[in-house]
Amino acid sequence: MSGPAATESVPDTALGAFLKMWSEVVDLGRASALLAWDQETQMPPKGNAGRGQVQSTLAGIRHARLASNELFDALERAAEEAEEGSEAAAQVREARRTVDRVRKIPTELAKEQALASNEGHEAWVNARAASDFSLFEPALTRLVDLKRQEAELLAGEGGRPFDALLDQFEPGATEAALIPLFEKLVGEMTPIVHAVAASGKEVDESPARGHFPEAAQLAFGRRVAAQMGFDFEAGRIDLAPHPFCQGFSPNDVRITWRFDESDFRPALYGIMHEAGHGLYEQGLPMRFDRTPLGEAVSLGIHESQSRLWENLVGRSRPFWDWCLPIFKEHFPGAAAVTADALWPALNTIRPSLIRVEADQGTYDLHIALRFEIERALFAGSLDVPDLPDAWNQKIKEYLGLDVPDVADGVLQDIHWSFGGFGYFPTYTLGNLINAQLFEAVREEIGDLDDRIARGDFALLLEWLRTHIHSHGSLYTAAELVERATGAPLSPDAFLRERRRIAKEVYGVG
Ligand code: ZN
Repeated sequence: MSGPAATESVPDTALGAFLKMWSEVVDLGRASALLAWDQETQMPPKGNAGRGQVQSTLAGIRHARLASNELFDALERAAEEAEEGSEAAAQVREARRTVDRVRKIPTELAKEQALASNEGHEAWVNARAASDFSLFEPALTRLVDLKRQEAELLAGEGGRPFDALLDQFEPGATEAALIPLFEKLVGEMTPIVHAVAASGKEVDESPARGHFPEAAQLAFGRRVAAQMGFDFEAGRIDLAPHPFCQGFSPNDVRITWRFDESDFRPALYGIMHEAGHGLYEQGLPMRFDRTPLGEAVSLGIHESQSRLWENLVGRSRPFWDWCLPIFKEHFPGAAAVTADALWPALNTIRPSLIRVEADQGTYDLHIALRFEIERALFAGSLDVPDLPDAWNQKIKEYLGLDVPDVADGVLQDIHWSFGGFGYFPTYTLGNLINAQLFEAVREEIGDLDDRIARGDFALLLEWLRTHIHSHGSLYTAAELVERATGAPLSPDAFLRERRRIAKEVYGVG
């Protein structure tokens, strides 16, 4: 790069000096993330061990920077200078969340946790393969114990440890605020699920099945993502074992996909979901890039963006007015499929055992039971050995199913194997937030359905850019929702949508 040195801004404020240090921490994180992306999409299998070493080195350097007194002092100076309510104060607030967390955890505990999650992951893989919970039990007991220690340190005197766990993924979330949301959700969704089962009505899913070649599925998925507004000049899509989205800056956002040649739904909805995440990442404010405010505000908000496109747009009837002809262009074998026949197959309510395969009608009940079990574990009212029974009981109560083995029950998710407690509620928060946002958008854009039926998503994206993406982490998730919709988060919009689907697809309610 050439040009006068003056364009490289010399920090002349305490905040400027701090942000300069911070930008390097961000860069180190981005380098790690790029290596992780490469590992999932490009790296040959034998590269694993060497990659692990590089990642460990980078993580060590980043951690040392974050934990350094130099950075801490610079942050304190920036804090003194920041005026209350200013952007500078918001930068300080967001940086402090990360720095505090790093400084409160003793190195010994962090090392023990890294070890325990390695062992935990291995034990989980073996236990799942053998469908034998006892093989995972000692490792999980240790993980819970270490996480409890961490949560107590983070929460501090008088704080609530489980809230500290929630807070890492959803800043500001508390058990007390989440409990009534989940109670209402379970209270209203369980009867719908049971009523659908009692109706005996089965949706014919054959319009979604057939033969869908890989190349055509990718071309179709790219077409839809581009129409949504995903910028392929500032992003790309690659095949990976698990779909994910990773942003390195608003100008470089990578999404991944996977496919099933006998059913187009996993690929299409996986791509719409990740492209929804990707639109958020591409819409983050450049003026905050490489600063604490340049990040997505929470996982719940992130999930609201992915789920809005995947479910509220992609599974809607108007979307298929636009999409069906394009679908048929890519899959000539589906020439006879009609939107009327297809639509119910995109909106089933059928209890199943596995969360990641669950439909939108039952998904949040899977999350609710995990939230309840985690709370009980951390409150000490449930012991690790009693987990499988507690799990099976809840599955019966919410979904009316018997769990045949632990591999399809309590051992199905990876999260606990690495100590990821407090993560699950963000999925449901995403659903509640997206429904509330979507009602607000509809109110503001009166002809939204007509636009969607023409494949015109520009105004919808603009609304999301204005109300969500462009703020980065300037506001908390709760503030963002309230500013965008005029009301605090509630499950009402989401439940209205669920009741509508149950009625239209199953004639229930
Ligand atoms: Zn997601």
